[in-house]
Amino acid sequence: MAKKTLKDVVLQGKTVLMRCDFNVPLDEHRNITDDRRITSALPSIKYILGQGAALVLCSHLGRPKGEMKSELSLKPVARRLEDLLGLKVIMAPDCVGADVDKLKSELAPGQVMLLENLRFHKEEEKNDDEFARRLAAGCTVFVNDAFGTAHRAHASTEGVTHVIQPAVAGFLIEKELKYLGEAISNPKRPLLAILGGAKISGKIDVVKNLFDKVDRLIVGGGMIFTFFKAMGKEIGDSLLEEDRIAMAKELLDEAEKRGITLMLPADVVIADAFSNDADTRVVPVDEIPVGWMGLDIGPQSQDIFSKAIAEARTVIWNGPMGAFEMPAFATGTEKIARALAAATAEGATTVVGGGDSAAAVSAFGLDDKITHISTGGGASLEFLEGKKLPGIEALTDK
Ligand code: AMP
Repeated sequence: MAKKTLKDVVLQGKTVLMRCDFNVPLDEHRNITDDRRITSALPSIKYILGQGAALVLCSHLGRPKGEMKSELSLKPVARRLEDLLGLKVIMAPDCVGADVDKLKSELAPGQVMLLENLRFHKEEEKNDDEFARRLAAGCTVFVNDAFGTAHRAHASTEGVTHVIQPAVAGFLIEKELKYLGEAISNPKRPLLAILGGAKISGKIDVVKNLFDKVDRLIVGGGMIFTFFKAMGKEIGDSLLEEDRIAMAKELLDEAEKRGITLMLPADVVIADAFSNDADTRVVPVDEIPVGWMGLDIGPQSQDIFSKAIAEARTVIWNGPMGAFEMPAFATGTEKIARALAAATAEGATTVVGGGDSAAAVSAFGLDDKITHISTGGGASLEFLEGKKLPGIEALTDK
């Protein structure tokens, strides 16, 4: 790891500002429906408090767009954190200002305070210097443990590092970089990447970057139909990105030129409507009739892909194999998730990018059977694209 982490700095007696990703889902009564983003920050929180530091936590929640919105207050997070830590969590009235500065100055070692939603101020996303300075006031160590926002240069992820040094990675970011980084730059081979999801346009840079690294590439999800179109096949009413057909052709040619095995499904589940109640059939990919659309990979493809997963020693997966939100088209995604779990049990390293594939793994109850599930959808995608994440780049070098 090229950047300093929590274990590289003295924390005793310091007031530490830590950026977390507490952007948790809430129901209509503002109850937290999934607290994994809070529990995944606990190792860093407990360590910092245990070292005798006073801890100021900050995060965004939802999209208040620069306005104070009570329904997007972080108060429910403070309460849940209190339960999880068994410790009082002081809830600040705002994230900057004289009242907050006073609370910070009164915070004793071992005490923890949560600042109010950063995005109640439009300056946060604008990475405003003065806002970063106000946010940093009174703190002498900065910790970034919010992998989910590491791909954004905001005041709380990038701006503060110009005001507070050292700026170090928390344990969660350290773990993300270890697993994602090793999977890409130093994998046990063969390395297999599986890409799915609706659109090829969102994944082109990932495919291009992975071409340099992988031994095999599986493509599933809605984006296969643009590839099939590029191969001259009829795809009925399946999802198509007309303006990406030429690009898909280039990618197919490039894979062939480089000797990379690019695996596309052999069969698909088709439906006569985009609905869970639609009539469905399984057909070879050459036989999609007019008026029907492909919504999942077929059973033969599930078997072929599962075998490829079993043969790999490192697997990176990003994006569902079909329209998995509808149970009728979730089987392909489930089979891939189960194949990953089985490969993990056999000693392979398996890494799932955040977002839909992480949600799918959870829905099938396989969370603890995968080596690493990223907490950041957008951030892990940008990492796989080979881009530098501004929130990480800004941290102090080792
Ligand atoms: P993405 O955000 O690009 O990763 O795409 C995820 C979305 O792709 C999910 O909401 C899936 O329902 C959708 N999806 C996957 N396969 C298909 C398909 N064959 N047709 C339409 N949508 C799909």
